[in-house]
Amino acid sequence: MRAFPVIIIWIKETLPLGLGDGQLFTWTDGLKRKDWHDYESIQKDAMRSGKGEHGKPYPLTEEDHDDSAYRENGFNIFVSNNIALERSLPDIRHPNCKHKVYLETLPNTSIIIPFHNEGWTSLLRTIHSIINRTPDSLIAEIILVDDFSDREHLKEKLEEYMVRFAKVRIVRTKKREGLIRTRLLGASLARGEVLTFLDSHCEVNVNWLPPLLNQIALNHKTIVCPMIDVIDHNHFGYEAQAGDAMRGAFDWEMYYKRIPIPPELQRADPSDPFESPVMAGGLFAVNRKWFWELGGYDPGLEIWGGEQYEISFKVWMCGGGMYDVPCSRVGHIYRKYVPYKVPSGTSLARIRNVAANLCVDSKHGATGTELRLDICVKDGSERTWSHEQLFTFGWREDIRPGEPLHTRKFCFDAISHSSPVTLYDCHGMKGNQHWSYRKDKTLFHPVSSSCIDCNPAEKKIFMNRCDPLSETQQWIFEHINMTVLEKFNSKASS
Ligand code: UDP
Ligand code: MN
Repeated sequence: MRAFPVIIIWIKETLPLGLGDGQLFTWTDGLKRKDWHDYESIQKDAMRSGKGEHGKPYPLTEEDHDDSAYRENGFNIFVSNNIALERSLPDIRHPNCKHKVYLETLPNTSIIIPFHNEGWTSLLRTIHSIINRTPDSLIAEIILVDDFSDREHLKEKLEEYMVRFAKVRIVRTKKREGLIRTRLLGASLARGEVLTFLDSHCEVNVNWLPPLLNQIALNHKTIVCPMIDVIDHNHFGYEAQAGDAMRGAFDWEMYYKRIPIPPELQRADPSDPFESPVMAGGLFAVNRKWFWELGGYDPGLEIWGGEQYEISFKVWMCGGGMYDVPCSRVGHIYRKYVPYKVPSGTSLARIRNVAANLCVDSKHGATGTELRLDICVKDGSERTWSHEQLFTFGWREDIRPGEPLHTRKFCFDAISHSSPVTLYDCHGMKGNQHWSYRKDKTLFHPVSSSCIDCNPAEKKIFMNRCDPLSETQQWIFEHINMTVLEKFNSKASS
């Protein structure tokens, strides 16, 4: 049931700057509410000046842009190192948020932050922003969960640094677990009434937590998400995502999408929480007991991706609701590429031709273009997810550029037994886009009963009558996990 304020209109007119510190308001539901803004901290933020302050883009020079700045984190760590850990952010909330009051008694929360090889300043800025912009009484603890990082600064140095924050605890996994089991470890140790999950490269914005906890206090079967703002991976400028408030959704291939809220479903007050079918994934709050009643996350989930569907569906099926809260805003650094290694079994990589010793490359790939051969990109640190020589076998038995969680929606496509192999919008209907990798190393196309062949001199890839003895028809999947491949081929003839 919605509650209505009794005296709020009068108050707004007499105190234009907010509702006045510490004043309580009784609403029709009999619950006391108050203004949770921390005006002192807001004042302090307003006074700050310097590069990157108020979420302004850092002025980049040529050398700041060097690729080495991005290599370890997928975002520009030089810029991160050069802006203050306690930098100020712009208050980009809907103006109505300034006048909102929330329950006087809110549950406290454990803030759980998983990290794997996070940058030093990006991690510290996450913690500092939480400490500076969150009412202390609402923080039960901040649990940093290290997912088996190997960077030196995340060991003793981190422990020594965190001594200054009485509420920060550091726990570590015993082996690389991936995001989900790392979050689960944090959740299993948490003592707060609510669990709030954040990424290790966030900055929370003004009064971000009370609106989240308020929603859970009103109905504990609720998962709530802040608006996720964008911290630019180049210059660290802070701004809303394109389109700002949208609902989470997914398409038939389970790709996450944000779709605008239809006008008929829009709230009279756009700053009010609105329901969303699926959450974005990383940042949310949930009642701790209810999280476990839902069964937590499926611990079999690897690394990341997909968990937002798992938890969202359980919420709906168990009679709960999911809300996005426009008055709660948290900035997140969206990476340029994923910098860390994803264990084999979750990704398939290069496809190298035996005769040519060249790799299939989709560099200039767009729908309708032909695939070509190119020099194989080097392994190791230079191998980034932005390269176009990674391919994934989809569950529809098609082959797509990209690693499994960030594949592009183009598939290997051939129209006949003698045509080139092109990239074409995936249709998921097998047919022209149905492939199998056979034990003799050929890439077989069942619909035309032919195999992928190549011309090393011209770097061309085309279909041909199968000849397993010809090395131009032999392809090697590098870094492949055999179980994944066998599963893919389970129905294929060999
Ligand atoms: N993470 C982790 N273990 C992993 C991969 C990621 O603990 O194997 C952490 C990571 O440090 C971050 C969160 O999980 O705090 C989400 O991962 P990431 O930021 O890489 O995902 P993105 O936000 O780019 O989708
Ligand atoms: Mn992240």
